[in-house]
Amino acid sequence: MMDIFDKISDAVVNAGKAVGDKGKGVYDLAKTKLDIKAQEDLLQKKYAELGEKYYEEKKNAKKPIDPELFEEIGAAIAKLNELNESILDATGAIVCPECGTKISAETKFCPECGAKQELPEEEEEVSEETAEETTEE
Ligand SMILES: [Zn+2]
Repeated sequence: MMDIFDKISDAVVNAGKAVGDKGKGVYDLAKTKLDIKAQEDLLQKKYAELGEKYYEEKKNAKKPIDPELFEEIGAAIAKLNELNESILDATGAIVCPECGTKISAETKFCPECGAKQELPEEEEEVSEETAEETTEE
């Protein structure tokens, strides 16, 4: 019985060693895959940045490179604004006194113009009714 257990544990240790040795010297596929993913993400982000700049520059041009794409982006932006506004309406929005942009009531600085917002000070007047006189029996 002991022999078998010894052999098994030896085999396990040896297998572990082999894997360990293999992982060291051998090309690290998993890491390379992660690096590839990171580069792809970066590229995607940069493409988006470039696209946004291009869109801003060309949206009013008479003949953009791909009118349909411009239309779709324009529609998506409009929809996005609409959705954002619906959140503002639902959560309580204020209008920036500087630029007139509708912004969240909890925003301290206007995201459009940076103006500091006068927040209505919520002085919660805690009526200190010490109702702890439990002299009722
Ligand atoms: Zn503003």
